[in-house]
Amino acid sequence: MARDKTLHEKIRELGRNLWWSWQPEVTNIFREIDPVLWTEVGHNPVLLLEQYPPDKLEQRAAEAVLHTRINWAYRRWQEYMDASDTWGATHAGVLGQRPTAYFSAEFGLHESLPIYSGGLGVLAGDHLKSASDLGIPLVGVGLFYDQGYFEQHIDANGWQQETYTDQKIERLPIEPAVSRDGKPVLISVDTRGGSIHARVWRVNVGRIPLFLLDTDIAENRDEDRQLTARLYGGDTRTRIRQEIILGIGGVRALAAMGIQPGVIHMNEGHSAFAGLEVIHQRIDDDAVSFDEALRETAAMCVFTTHTPVPAGHDRFGADLIEEHVGPLRDQLGLRADALMSLGRVEPQNQNESFCMTVLAFKLCRRANAVSSLHGVVSRRMWANLWPWRSEEEIPIGHITNGIHVSTWLAQQMRMLYDRVLPLNWYLRTGEPGVWAPVEEISAGELWETHQTLKTRLISFARDRLLKQARRREELTDTLAQQISTALDPRVLTIGFARRFAPYKRADLIMRDIEVLAELVDQADQPIQLIFAGKSHPADEQGKAMLQRIIKVTQRNEFRGRVVFLEDYDVNLARHLVQGVDVWLNNPRRPLEASGTSGQKVVLNGGLNCSILDGWWAEAYDGSNGFAIGSGRTHVNQDIQDSRDGDSLIAVLRNEVIPLYYDRDRDLLPQAWIKRMKRAVRTLGWRFNADRMVMDYVSRNYVPAAGGLSCDMNNIA
Ligand SMILES: *Cc1c(COP(=O)(O)O)cnc(C)c1O
Repeated sequence: MARDKTLHEKIRELGRNLWWSWQPEVTNIFREIDPVLWTEVGHNPVLLLEQYPPDKLEQRAAEAVLHTRINWAYRRWQEYMDASDTWGATHAGVLGQRPTAYFSAEFGLHESLPIYSGGLGVLAGDHLKSASDLGIPLVGVGLFYDQGYFEQHIDANGWQQETYTDQKIERLPIEPAVSRDGKPVLISVDTRGGSIHARVWRVNVGRIPLFLLDTDIAENRDEDRQLTARLYGGDTRTRIRQEIILGIGGVRALAAMGIQPGVIHMNEGHSAFAGLEVIHQRIDDDAVSFDEALRETAAMCVFTTHTPVPAGHDRFGADLIEEHVGPLRDQLGLRADALMSLGRVEPQNQNESFCMTVLAFKLCRRANAVSSLHGVVSRRMWANLWPWRSEEEIPIGHITNGIHVSTWLAQQMRMLYDRVLPLNWYLRTGEPGVWAPVEEISAGELWETHQTLKTRLISFARDRLLKQARRREELTDTLAQQISTALDPRVLTIGFARRFAPYKRADLIMRDIEVLAELVDQADQPIQLIFAGKSHPADEQGKAMLQRIIKVTQRNEFRGRVVFLEDYDVNLARHLVQGVDVWLNNPRRPLEASGTSGQKVVLNGGLNCSILDGWWAEAYDGSNGFAIGSGRTHVNQDIQDSRDGDSLIAVLRNEVIPLYYDRDRDLLPQAWIKRMKRAVRTLGWRFNADRMVMDYVSRNYVPAAGGLSCDMNNIA
């Protein structure tokens, strides 16, 4: 029999599988080992444990009485990894030894692994976590960005500055991926100008392996070593080079490891070259024709499109395509124009560039948008790809995005749910009946829990404001004094955090600054606002919008009442969605394909106040949150913005603020609390990642793997 593992070995193993990150009890163990260091190392257990060799850990574990808890956590983890009675075992059996390979340019799993920029990545991360919980045979494929996206600081002028830090592999929960014969995996992709090589890393996300390709190796020229350094950092040439590594290289890496996917899922068009490489392998293996190989490949490929914003779709000119996909084209036996036509809406149009989204549609029999409304918009947007079909027959369905409950739910809220919801409710979050008993939670207790979380958010925010001021060398005694009373837990707190893409209109609430000042200062019914979000480094318009908000936060009438927190990431997101009263979302309809941050707020007791766009257009029922406007759009953008701005102020004045401050004798806002519960009950079961992944499995993965479709709704 093998000897028992030591405490140190156990905690190290726990820290090297991201499963810990969605187990509050395990997270608490890391925090309690060394609370100060835990914050300093950015919640990275690998870094934390570097400072705790076996002896020191033993000593600390004795002091803090951690032995039983570590042993218990370790045993729970083993049980989780070994479980065979999962949903997937029953419903995804056909995937068996041929898993779904889920390709994405970014994965937002945890703040300590910064290889994501925003919603797309967080969605991919949540997808992997739910696939793990449900026991779906699935592997992730992405890129390892050693500098990640960027850290955001705001300079004295209110302008965003970006800094990039090299991540040290040995300080991340990452290990080399190995091939069948136990050797590190190396792959290469030929271009007309030479080969690009990549090694492959492995991250363990519960039961799911995530493989990350990395070009920073000695075999490459200097230029190519930098290729995967930054997420969305380069020009179009960098972009296409990243995308051949992700798509073509990704499929080759799986082959090198002996993984034969039964389904390829392309999360957004960045990875669409994967389909070409699968076709290549089919031709190589069985000498079938290109057309036959394309048909077979399309049957096993699934595509999720994520944006109606034109700039969100990669396009490459014929020269870049020839330079980078030319060698593969030769192997496929395709002429240059035949390859180009795969990326064109009008195959023969010489003036049309090569669009990755179009390629994905042509290589995938099953395609979906990410909300019901986005489905309608996408079918209209891509109708020309199927000119012989009517709009309703365009083969793009929808599966609405959802969030991974255990990742985003505050522990205190979870404890409330544990008391009233059915046993093991967190394994059944996709069932409506599971959530109904939230009505039984007492109003007082729900409110108190919410207030606790809000207070925690506020102290976190003050701490951040202090650090920001210190770094800008602006911190005076007066300012420190002001910050220590910034934000008030009794005041209606509105959060707004997301990428500063112009269509998201972060500054909509400031269209009339006098009106905002009135709302913030209203005698018995004030509001306060917390903003966060990064602008893409090349987006001057986004940066200008951000600067405008910073300037507002600096005006006397808004100090400590409208604040901006720098460097939005998963950690900051967690604090915000768990602590705000209201989550504001005011995109220019219909450009928000889904949005997911509002879903994170729901389960924590916050209410959404949103334009009827993305997920909210199908979620809002009149009393589970608030709607801005009625969903009308206008061809003139200025008119739409001004109309939506007015609607926003109106709903705040007439509905949100009065409801929040309508208190009973115990100072409880009974009608508001009713709405909180209604939100959880009506939205919790639909807008979570378990339900989303189950939909993908039954509508897309199982049929694509050759099983029978359980649900035909996918093809609208
Ligand atoms: C959830 C999340 C997002 C996505 O938010 P949207 O509502 O889709 O804009 C972006 N960034 C982070 C860090 C998140 O946690």
